[in-house]
Amino acid sequence: MADALRLEKLETFLIALPARRVHRWVGLDSPIGAGYVVTRAQLIDGSVGWGEAQPIKTWGGDDAGRYGETPKTTITVIHEYLAAALIDVDVRQFEAVHVAMNRTIRGYPYAKAAVEVAIIDAVARSMGLPVYQLLGGRFRDKVAVAHSIGLMEIDEAVAESVQVVAEGITTIKIKIGVEVERDVAIVREIRRAIGNAPKIRVDANQGYKTWREAVTAIRRMTEFGISYAEQPVDGIRAMAEVSSRCDVPIMADESAWTERDVTAIAAAGAAQYLSVYYTKPGGLWKAKRLLTVAGAFGMQCDINGSAEMGIGNAANLHLAAAAPEITLAGTIPVTSTAEIERTRIAGRKYMDDIIKTPFEYVDGCLIVPGGPGLGIEVDEDKLRRYGVTK
Ligand SMILES: [Mg+2]
Repeated sequence: MADALRLEKLETFLIALPARRVHRWVGLDSPIGAGYVVTRAQLIDGSVGWGEAQPIKTWGGDDAGRYGETPKTTITVIHEYLAAALIDVDVRQFEAVHVAMNRTIRGYPYAKAAVEVAIIDAVARSMGLPVYQLLGGRFRDKVAVAHSIGLMEIDEAVAESVQVVAEGITTIKIKIGVEVERDVAIVREIRRAIGNAPKIRVDANQGYKTWREAVTAIRRMTEFGISYAEQPVDGIRAMAEVSSRCDVPIMADESAWTERDVTAIAAAGAAQYLSVYYTKPGGLWKAKRLLTVAGAFGMQCDINGSAEMGIGNAANLHLAAAAPEITLAGTIPVTSTAEIERTRIAGRKYMDDIIKTPFEYVDGCLIVPGGPGLGIEVDEDKLRRYGVTK
């Protein structure tokens, strides 16, 4: 084996995919999939790996912290700082990769995640192993998909929920956080339409202005069988107030980016569930470490995200495969391409993708791809076709 395996080339591409429909949540003001960053890492042994970031400028943590990245900040950070910081690093040493990136610039977890995933993909391909093997091995083969109902009119939401249950979906995630009466009504109407078997969970994206408003909404929704409520309010203290007054578990998403966040959430009793994906902590390796901390506090986790494209979905599927703490259905998009349609609507965010073969979808679950690497092949024609000017 070589003494060191270093980066030879790090490239970025700005990609815009055609969306299936407009997807909205509280606070989002730019369309999903319009300007996602794809990274390509080439190592000195010729191995190539791919990564992806979904920078959304209004997406971030509590109190407007962490982080608000944009496609252009991501690309700038990668080329001006991260690539230079990694020149002499043996990229097989994942801890060293993160130390080098964090030393050169603070923050920008999405940029770091896009680089780290491309590196891990390339290293895994160089070793002839699937990515999950480098994260501790395969603990599961499939992940249940939660279909996300964005902010939309109630009759449209009901129709879409019925359609996706028919396509095998067993968990519906409803975006709320708008106004109590409207939010209770959408949960009630969807429950009426789909019956009692599918699970329903809700996500307010910090939308309630006070924790009291959140408590009122969640208590009323409990009547319609919600499994849990995600990020009702902004801030760990307010989350703890909600959590202490509701019977259903509370999930932290915007509040949970780092291992230290998880510790603070646990100490405050702010949530029992955590939403985890490879981008918020700054990469797969950091996400795996964060999940270990969550597990130590007995927290259950899901894979969530920001309407990933195929590369990002592959990264999250490998993370879920290796993490016993991921016990809940995830809002992992179901990738389809123009040629291969896995679902018509269920979990589907885009009409096409830049990976050649989408992941298999069986009985409401996505099947974890094998290797080597992320187990995907990027379609270079589509990479050009959906490329937009940086
Ligand atoms: Mg969320």
